[in-house]
Amino acid sequence: MASALGHVALVGAGPGNPGLLTLRGLELLRQADLVLYDKLVPEIMLAHAPDGAQRLCVTELANRHVERYQPVQELLIAEARAGKRVVRLKGGDPYLFGRGGEEAQALHDAGVPFEVVPGVTAALGAAVFAGIPLTHRAHSSCVAIITGHENPLKPETMLDWDNLAHFPGTLVIYMGMSRLDRLAATLIQKGKSPDTPAAVVQNATTGEQHTLTAPLAELALKARNAGLTSPALIIIGPVVSLHGSLGWFESLPLLGQRVLVTRPKRQAAEFVGQLTALGAAPLLLPAVDVGPPEDWAPVDAAIDRLGTFDWLVFTSVNGVSSFLDRLEALGKDMRALGALRIAAIGPRTAQKLVEYHLRADVVPARFHSEDLAEALLPRMKAGSRVLLARANRGREVLREVLGMHAEVEQVAVYTQVDAVPADHAMLDQVRRGEVDFITFTSSNIARAMLNRLDDVSRDRILEGHTRLASISPITSAAIAELGLPVAVEAKTATVEGIVEALVEFRRGGSDSG
Ligand code: SAH
Repeated sequence: MASALGHVALVGAGPGNPGLLTLRGLELLRQADLVLYDKLVPEIMLAHAPDGAQRLCVTELANRHVERYQPVQELLIAEARAGKRVVRLKGGDPYLFGRGGEEAQALHDAGVPFEVVPGVTAALGAAVFAGIPLTHRAHSSCVAIITGHENPLKPETMLDWDNLAHFPGTLVIYMGMSRLDRLAATLIQKGKSPDTPAAVVQNATTGEQHTLTAPLAELALKARNAGLTSPALIIIGPVVSLHGSLGWFESLPLLGQRVLVTRPKRQAAEFVGQLTALGAAPLLLPAVDVGPPEDWAPVDAAIDRLGTFDWLVFTSVNGVSSFLDRLEALGKDMRALGALRIAAIGPRTAQKLVEYHLRADVVPARFHSEDLAEALLPRMKAGSRVLLARANRGREVLREVLGMHAEVEQVAVYTQVDAVPADHAMLDQVRRGEVDFITFTSSNIARAMLNRLDDVSRDRILEGHTRLASISPITSAAIAELGLPVAVEAKTATVEGIVEALVEFRRGGSDSG
């Protein structure tokens, strides 16, 4: 929501790994009205902004204007003056080769209040994720951070390549890939040893990271042969020799695996975090969206009569928050639950209850409707009254089974709708075979997503090129009904279960396709 006095925050998004945003950056993103982001910012990070926030990539502005930075600055100023909280999300750190200095200057000149939040710059991210300590007591006591954007052969260069060739430490070159040949040759010609260990780190800190090392004299040729391109960093110095033993990231089990996450955006963050930590490159395409129920009246009526029920049953995290938030919105508090007994379908749902200071009386050992019914039945007296707080659609198992012994009233406390736009760019990626796994955390999500796929994409799956990963046998059955094979199934029906199953699949159980 716009406040009277707007404000701009220049926020460093880090080098590409969505986990490398600062807490302050996250706070600001969560309150943003407008996020203006660079191309290198991981798209998944934009999910932190509120649903209603506007998101705009600077390249969209650039396409419309000849000079790219002028319109960025004008927009920042205009939107802040209109009272908006603007986050200018920039790759890496805002004050390193990001024109953050110019943007801040323009805000200052316009009298617009601003804040700057540092980010993990590509050099630091790449060094750590490639296992190349930029300083090391045995090898290097200083670091030079250099732009390779300037042509070293042009007289007007601001860089002194003579000095850089004799710099007694590690050199890190940004934006140097298109000139790698010339940069290396210049350094060697000015006196740097052609044998100096050197590296190119492409897409550092992301699941697409690729590190290549070679003596300085051979680096350009090897990088070209390997097809390495921007965004990449060039690191030059003896510390590069440590990559062999310290390169922890590139041996992670899910490295480079493109895993499509189809959960609703609000629930995706944790899953994405776990995948990223194991080296995967998660892609986000929420297949369903959750929102308020079409009609609150039945929910409100049930809340008014809460005292007449014996059990309150939740089958999802969304169910818990939607129901309990509504209860509060009606001016009541947790005392309205009185002596009600509470059941939760699984540990996540139980955890959500804890956030409201409630403890579930029943959580089944396995997390399906059948298991919940089985756990509940022995604890119910004949004729017990059960309130089932659930989505507008879903399986009927609970109502049917519990209904044989108890009086079950179900209310839709939230709606779930299919949400994959037919023209989504991510669907093109599936079609082109650029996705390794599509994950499904429920049958509804599987149906919503798979029904959107065209024949080419289905063939990718049938060929085993793109694989389907399911959270449980129930979800697997829904996928099978659509005629597609499930390659990976979680042993426990949680996202951790899916992640473990993916790792196991990669480690061994997999065929080589
Ligand atoms: N402000 C940014 C740098 C922007 S200049 C920062 O602090 O990191 C863009 C250059 O940064 C790219 O050409 C590339 O050299 C480097 N870069 C950015 N992200 C990178 C990544 N994930 N891996 C390797 N290099 C990266």
